[in-house]
Amino acid sequence: MSDNKPGDGASVADYSSPLFLAWQLTNRCEATCLTCCEDSGPDKGWKDEMSEEQALKFAHDVVAAGIPYAAFGGGEPLAVPHFWKIAEIFDKGGVGLKLETTGLPITEEKADYLKSINTNCIQISMDGATKEIFDRVRPGGRYDDVVAVLKRLGKRDLQPEWVFVPNKLNIGEIVKAYEMAADLGCRTFITGPVMRLGRAAQAWASLGLPKDVWEKAADALRERAAKMGEPVKLSIYPWDILTEMTTRLDSPQAMVLVVPNGRAKLLNALPFAPASVIEHSIEECWTRYLDAWKSEEVKDFITTCQVKKELLLHANETWWPGEWAKRKAAAQ
Ligand code: SF4
Repeated sequence: MSDNKPGDGASVADYSSPLFLAWQLTNRCEATCLTCCEDSGPDKGWKDEMSEEQALKFAHDVVAAGIPYAAFGGGEPLAVPHFWKIAEIFDKGGVGLKLETTGLPITEEKADYLKSINTNCIQISMDGATKEIFDRVRPGGRYDDVVAVLKRLGKRDLQPEWVFVPNKLNIGEIVKAYEMAADLGCRTFITGPVMRLGRAAQAWASLGLPKDVWEKAADALRERAAKMGEPVKLSIYPWDILTEMTTRLDSPQAMVLVVPNGRAKLLNALPFAPASVIEHSIEECWTRYLDAWKSEEVKDFITTCQVKKELLLHANETWWPGEWAKRKAAAQ
């Protein structure tokens, strides 16, 4: 893989298919985190989510297309019963797995299974060091059970990664959370500016951190990690969502993001979903993805977002090409 990255000089258009798949199997989730960028929750499953049959067919297509890596994100992918069948298909087909999860569905038996298959990375969301703050930020997230899961994974040397989404309520605990990640045998501590999407966008005034507060906290975190000899790799994402969008416009990732209804999106912050894995082959999805990134419509939307941040509230919609032009015309 290392000689095949876009960063090594190749353009994303040089690839005949994506290098990785990001797949949101469902928008349903046991938790209702205040900063959830997908606006997921127990009653937030989409009415038109892919059926098991459609999802398994697509999983076989991914293997046949030779996509080497798949990342599952939320809602809670591991709570979807057919996730485990997909994991088996990917394991047999040599597709590496990354999981972004609450951790709650990982029982002792499931932890053994994840150890036995090709699981490269398990990221557990843990937006607090203490139960008090965790419960405020992640209602329904079950602090004690997540700590037990982290221990369960650590015991099997599955080296979980701790994901911490900073906001006004939990920023005071970020250093303590890093120390706890070290105690629990985590491999990486991942954080970065909170993405102004989904529920975080809706409650930005009460949750969003001023830039200077975030930077001060990030400096304190770096300092503590360095003092401890960085027993857990510190990974601080450099961009906020607006910078991410403009950066990807110049340099799209060799990735396709598939959302619960099978639509293939450009980026979770963008509503453009120019293909559907139910209707289109992976090759067609890839071509449509590349064409959409080059379109004036996407460029115009991203440029407009920089000044009209309320457009980020459309992030979790799925627009066919042309939708933005239609909406602009209707608004005039
Ligand atoms: S666990 Fe993840 S998907 Fe579920 S509500 Fe929280 S942030 Fe959203």
